[in-house]
Amino acid sequence: MDMAVRQQNLLDLGPAGMAAWFEQFGERAFRAEQILKWIYHQGVMDFQAMTNLSQALRDRLQQSASLELPHIQSEQVSRDGTVKWLFDVGRSNAVETVYIPEPGRGTLCVSSQVGCALNCSFCATGAQGFNRNLSAAEIIGQVWQAARSLGHERNGERKITNVVMMGMGEPLLNLEALLPALELMRDDLGYGLASRRVTVSTAGLIPGMDALNEHIDVALAVSLHAPIDELRNQLVPLNKKYPIADLMAACRRFVADKHKRSVTFEYTLIDGVNDHPEHARKLIKLLRQVPSKLNLIPFNPFPGTRYQCSPPDRIQRFQEIVMRGDIIATVRKTRGDDIAAACGQLAGDFSDRTRRRERIQLQVQASA
Ligand code: SAH
Repeated sequence: MDMAVRQQNLLDLGPAGMAAWFEQFGERAFRAEQILKWIYHQGVMDFQAMTNLSQALRDRLQQSASLELPHIQSEQVSRDGTVKWLFDVGRSNAVETVYIPEPGRGTLCVSSQVGCALNCSFCATGAQGFNRNLSAAEIIGQVWQAARSLGHERNGERKITNVVMMGMGEPLLNLEALLPALELMRDDLGYGLASRRVTVSTAGLIPGMDALNEHIDVALAVSLHAPIDELRNQLVPLNKKYPIADLMAACRRFVADKHKRSVTFEYTLIDGVNDHPEHARKLIKLLRQVPSKLNLIPFNPFPGTRYQCSPPDRIQRFQEIVMRGDIIATVRKTRGDDIAAACGQLAGDFSDRTRRRERIQLQVQASA
């Protein structure tokens, strides 16, 4: 075989990209639809098993194209049913994907980067630093692998009903790969998820929020964590570049275009840092500027962090204050913390095995 010929990994292509690729390959665009159904509906990753394609086309595809998934390095199941997969993405790097089953729904939390460059002071992924962007194939491949492992469509019932881009990384710093992957989640030829069931979470990258809104209809979550710039600068350093007032204006643009939607704001409650009643009152004023929902996340500890989780009564008080201010606020239940799968605990990189073991031990001690 001529090794100079580069094969196209078809998992890197969204529906439109796939149609364009088949045209330049000298095939009719409907072939793209057939292949997409094989991959994402039937879970077939072998051209030779795609029996509605001619033998000649299967052979040509085998020469010029590939179907390359990220490999599962390990799978752990929490005592609460949460599942965490570690994906080997080469060069001793790994990313994590988490499945959170709840009555009537199943949410898959997907990673977008190996590590993260934003360095939020309370996040384990941030503490690990940044390695590289994931490809579209590595993003949608997490969904494919999770779907297969869970028996996604068995007995006509779907296991994955929602996808949240809340794993490792800042998705809006990897739009080029994110967009085709989101298209595959949304499109009927892919996973066919409705726009409200696919959520992109951002630390507040304003140009990315505008670009996302322009290209695809999905839900938006913004990691706020503080109602005032001085404090948010410390928690989310990106705030120095995109301060709160500008961020709220970007959120208004986002909902203005698609009037039906609200923005979900994530707020991690950290003991003595951002959990004072005054913070809650300031938050009400801020969130009234845009149709919003508030998701309060009890801080999840990880080794080496200087922060602690707010005590339960303070979390409850915080929630009561914002709800009295007519803000819809839920407290996110901590899930999968016994396998370090909770928010902010995803560290992935398995060159860091000792620290992972420490972390799991700490979690077990904390919950004992
Ligand atoms: N970079 C994106 C996607 C990551 S989402 C973003 O910032 O939104 C992960 C969510 O978990 C974010 O809201 C993040 O702020 C929050 N988080 C990070 N570390 C956490 C921790 N230790 N405890 C609880 N939540 C945390």
